[in-house]
Amino acid sequence: MRRKNSEILLENSMFLTAIMMIVAYCISVFLRFYWVYWASSYPHFFYNNELMISTNDGYAFAEGARDMIAGFHQPNDLSYYGSSLSTLSVFLVKILPFSFETIILYMSVFISSLIVIPIMLIAYEFKNLYAGFIASLVASVANSYYNRTMAGYYDTDMLNITLAMFVLWALIRLVTSKDRLCLLYIPAFILIYSWWYPSSFSLNSAMLIAFLGYTIVFDRKSRINYEAMILMLISLTNIALSLQIVLILICFFIIYFKSDLINLKRLAILGGIIFLFFIIRGGLNPILFQLKFYIFRSVADTKDIAFKFFNVNQTIMESSTISSDIFMKRVSSSITIFIFGLIGYFYLCFKQRAFLLSLPILALGVLAFKAGLRFTIYAVPIIALGYGVFIKQIYILFMLWLRSTSFKKNKTKVLKILQYPKTLTALFFIFFGIISLIPSIRHIIMYKTHPVFFTSEVEILNSLKKIAKREDYVISWWDYGYPIRYYSDVKTLIDGGKHLGGDNFPVSFTLTADEVASANMARLEVEYTEMQYAKKIPFMDTHLKWMMKDYGFNNVNLFLKALNSPNFKAPKPSRDIYYYLPDRMIDIFNVIAEFSNLDLKDGKPYNNFFFFTTQNYQQDGKNGPILLSENLTLSEDLTYINYNGRQIDINTIYTTQYDKNGKLNVEARPIDDNAPLYLIFMSDYARFVIVNKKAFDSTYVQLYVLENYDKNLFEPVVLNPVAKIYKLKR
Ligand code: MN
Repeated sequence: MRRKNSEILLENSMFLTAIMMIVAYCISVFLRFYWVYWASSYPHFFYNNELMISTNDGYAFAEGARDMIAGFHQPNDLSYYGSSLSTLSVFLVKILPFSFETIILYMSVFISSLIVIPIMLIAYEFKNLYAGFIASLVASVANSYYNRTMAGYYDTDMLNITLAMFVLWALIRLVTSKDRLCLLYIPAFILIYSWWYPSSFSLNSAMLIAFLGYTIVFDRKSRINYEAMILMLISLTNIALSLQIVLILICFFIIYFKSDLINLKRLAILGGIIFLFFIIRGGLNPILFQLKFYIFRSVADTKDIAFKFFNVNQTIMESSTISSDIFMKRVSSSITIFIFGLIGYFYLCFKQRAFLLSLPILALGVLAFKAGLRFTIYAVPIIALGYGVFIKQIYILFMLWLRSTSFKKNKTKVLKILQYPKTLTALFFIFFGIISLIPSIRHIIMYKTHPVFFTSEVEILNSLKKIAKREDYVISWWDYGYPIRYYSDVKTLIDGGKHLGGDNFPVSFTLTADEVASANMARLEVEYTEMQYAKKIPFMDTHLKWMMKDYGFNNVNLFLKALNSPNFKAPKPSRDIYYYLPDRMIDIFNVIAEFSNLDLKDGKPYNNFFFFTTQNYQQDGKNGPILLSENLTLSEDLTYINYNGRQIDINTIYTTQYDKNGKLNVEARPIDDNAPLYLIFMSDYARFVIVNKKAFDSTYVQLYVLENYDKNLFEPVVLNPVAKIYKLKR
């Protein structure tokens, strides 16, 4: 029966494999164009006649690619010059007739869909093409995979899973067919993967360990397995790439052409030497570090125990833990598909032991429970293959039922179709393919992400590019770091990759402190950052420690207080500093404040900063209070608020409004000199802002919301309703 099936189904046909790959690839690309279609109706998503990318980190790679095309970048500007994705982008820009913006927008669409290739290749090894076809369809657009590889998601994710699957395929092919060419494929894919995504080291190491375990349990006598392990170890050792390639080629040619030279004993000695070398070159360190970071979440924020900074991973959504429902939907788009997929996975591992080698990839996906959303994508193709196998088994049962005698007696007409088994098979799998895609398609239609920035903001940053020099610094929150550097070609203090508590503290301070302290801190932090690059202060130390040393302070709180003083002498400027204050920052201003509004000696928050803002409110009846949030109402005459049942009076009401010429007018209405709160109504945004004195005096509120800047300290460069840029005058 089984043999007969595989003959009917042509499950060993290279041709059919290729057809299925192409069909699945095209569907995956096609579905990703839905977002392009949707987004194209919004003019404020466009810049340079192209939709803008939707991932923050993408701007880091875009900056790197831009600099590579230009052929230069500034020392210590943190540009991703030479990074893998930037390099690939530059290559595509050179060979394709499209603009840079177009290429970075669509790369994820065309590259991430390549995942169907290793899936189909694995299915081919298992002579299970139809399962592979279903798996390719399901995996290529499963929720989490789609989210991280959709159009505009310009990030290394577009190849991360595909490369892991290629390594898996080469391993599976090695153990199932003993094809000696796999001794080249395996290290080649590991090297490509390591170049593309250096963090793949842990996954590759885990695959090596799994392969060792598999060999010991099921395949002890296969010499080729040990040979492959040695090649894997070489490709994972921290030595120059050229040396790795030479070593791999030498080993491969000896194994391939002079295999009589090698016996098990010599192989063991060789393996031992390379393993020793692997350890000496620090091969075990990353594993220990990763365990510490992701499992125990005790990141060594700073080696300096003198300061207790606010820890950043509490505020990043990506790193938060998730529920099992969300997990299953992210992996397979629907809980049903996931459960069938898991059943199929166990069945496949039982039938094809080689598939046990996929355990590390699946495990990394399951790690999402501990380490956060971003890891679910690894489980996607593995569970999808399980689901494909499940559907395939359903089909076999269906065929058995069609051929059963009781069925034949009743429905002779249907029998005709049994004479065309290929058509029947094709219809069955096309039908199930479409059905299985429905949850993903629904998700794609629902999941509408915006570009990182809108056109108006990008135009402002682009105008800054013409004003600021490449060595100048722009101070803003880390969320905007990469885009600022890409559009304005300047330096930043913090960005999507540099935002530990100690990095964020000074920036948070400049945004939330009053203007004098802000100006001093901005100058200090910029100059000390450059001093650190110039190796005048040690690399791992916080700048704060050295500032205090230079200014003769032992107590950090006294030092920060001294920054308020008009007599404080900040370092001599080596370059200009700009503040980039976008409107969108108002929504995260409370989070920003948390990073500096604490006692650095014990890490305890001060709780003296009140900042509330909303554009979402309604009046209770005609003359009732205005409901600002669940526990906060504003009296109808705007003179007091009711916060958690407590009445707190308003000191002054400010109303801001742009006139016809785009100039901001601020009108102040004093209510009660002794009251603690300030109410600002930003009429053009229909937005209320309620702040206490400390938040009211903050540089962001003064400079962005009220345009009330100290003319000795700041000079406006751009005053636009979506973002304001000030230049520091000293
Ligand atoms: Mn630069």
